[in-house]
Amino acid sequence: MVTGKIYLTGGIGSRRSGEAYGDKYELPNLTAYNETCAAIANIFWNQRMFLLHGDSKYFDVLERTLYNGMLSGISMTGDRFFYPNPLESEGDYNRSEWFGCSCCPSNISRFIPSVSGYIYATRADSLFVNLFIGSEGNVKIGIQDVNLKQQTNYPWDGDIRLTVNPEKPVTMTLCLRIPGWARNEVLPGGLYRFAQPSALSPSLMVNGKLRQLKIKNGYARITRTWKMGDIVELSLPMQVRKVLATDLIVDDRNKVALTRGPVVFCAEGVDNGGDLKSLVVPIAAPFKYTFDPGLLNGVGTLTGNVEKLSGDGDNRPITKRPSSLVLRPYYAWNHRGAGKMMVWFDIMNKK
Ligand SMILES: [Zn+2]
Repeated sequence: MVTGKIYLTGGIGSRRSGEAYGDKYELPNLTAYNETCAAIANIFWNQRMFLLHGDSKYFDVLERTLYNGMLSGISMTGDRFFYPNPLESEGDYNRSEWFGCSCCPSNISRFIPSVSGYIYATRADSLFVNLFIGSEGNVKIGIQDVNLKQQTNYPWDGDIRLTVNPEKPVTMTLCLRIPGWARNEVLPGGLYRFAQPSALSPSLMVNGKLRQLKIKNGYARITRTWKMGDIVELSLPMQVRKVLATDLIVDDRNKVALTRGPVVFCAEGVDNGGDLKSLVVPIAAPFKYTFDPGLLNGVGTLTGNVEKLSGDGDNRPITKRPSSLVLRPYYAWNHRGAGKMMVWFDIMNKK
C-alpha cells in the first residue's frame, strides 16, 4: 500500500468503481475516491501493525491520515461529512448531512472519541508516546500507575512538554516517536519526498538537560528511573516543506505540494481569486507560515509568491505575472461554500 497506493493525505482506495484500490501508482487527484471509512480503516490497520511490531513507521502513516485524509471527512460543526475525499475539486462538491449508505458519518462518530487511546502504548517496561496531543492520562508500567501530562500546541508548534508522574520511582524506557517528517521522510514507502533536506533536527531535553537522540525503530529512547515531576521536552522542527512525488505517479508529475509537520495544505478558490490551475509554484519560492486565529476555528496558513500564467500558447503567447498563493490545511477545506481546491501545483511551465 505505502509503496504504490497511498495519497499524500493518507487517503487510500483511489477507485470509485467497486470502492477499490487502483493499480499501483493510480492516484488521480480530482477523481480520488478515498472514502472516509478507508482512512479510518487505514488508521485501525496501522495501529494494529504497530502493536505487533513496535515500529513507528506505522504511526507515521496513521498520523498523516489522522490530520488530513480522515479529518477532512467531517465538518468543523461536526454535522456534515465527506464520503470521498478527493485532492482536487472543480467547485461542485460539498459535505452532506447524511447518505443512503451512511457508513462514514457513523464510523467517524465512533472513531473521533477513541483518539485518546492512540496517544500511548506500553509493553513490559516500555512506554511509547505515539501522538502529540495536549492531554492528561494514566498508564500502567507493571503494577505501577504512571500519570502523564502533555502540554503542546501541536501540530501548529513542534514543542511538546511531557510531565511524567509515577506514583513511586519507576525504571522504564520512554520511547518518544520522532515522526518521519522530522527525519526527512514524508511517508514510509518512498512515494513522496521533500524537495529540500531540512537543516534543522529534533532536540530533546530531560529535566532541562539536553540529551542525545538515540533513535531505534523511529523512537528516541530514554531508560532511567523516573520520578514524580520529571519533565521531557521534545522540540520538532515545524517548517514549511515542499513535497514531490515519484514520477511513477503520473497525476503528480512535475507538481509540488506543501506541508508543515503532519499537516498537508491546499489552496481554495475563495482565497485565491477563483482560478487555481493557472498558478505555477517555482520550486524555490519561499512560503511564510502564519496562524490565523479568526478563521476556521484557528488555522495555520501558508502564503507564497508564485506565478500566474495566461494565454493558451497557440493564438496568444503564454505570459507570466507575479501572483500570490494562500494555502489552508486540507482538512479545513470546503467550509466557505463549494469552491475549487487543489493540493498539487504545477512547477513547470504549461505548454
Ligand atoms: Zn464510509
